Amino acid sequence: MTRGEQQAAMVAEISGCDPFKCMKCGKCSASCPAYDQMDIKPHQFASYIIAGDLENLVESKAAFKCMSCFACIERCPRGVEPGKLVDAARQLMTRERGGDYMQPEEVPELLAEDLPQQLLVSAFRRYRR
Ligand code: SF4
Ligand code: SF4
Repeated sequence: MTRGEQQAAMVAEISGCDPFKCMKCGKCSASCPAYDQMDIKPHQFASYIIAGDLENLVESKAAFKCMSCFACIERCPRGVEPGKLVDAARQLMTRERGGDYMQPEEVPELLAEDLPQQLLVSAFRRYRR
């Protein structure tokens, strides 16, 4: 198995989604609120993962513009769930680069009154695995 194939398998395992099921229908991109700010679009995430090109996906603007709103997950007719794929890709690259997770005790210092609740939900999704 090549490194790219191993990474693709890891992303599938972390996300619980199968990128090979993507049929490029574009429904995810059509529902994504961050579409205009992404250089790689949600309907392209699966292709990058299948190609083992995680570096470019994670280095892209898309990886950090995704808000984990999960609109794409609601719309995807094939259960590919691109928001989860990009989240898993980001997580895998962080692990491979030796990055650490945020500790729960660090969270209160980062909270502000006007912080959107969605951000907290996204952070929990991201850091609990
Ligand atoms: S909605 Fe699902 S099947 Fe359609 S392009 Fe997006 S990820 Fe692929
Ligand atoms: S989860 Fe990310 S990729 Fe999916 S619709 Fe929301 S912002 Fe877009």
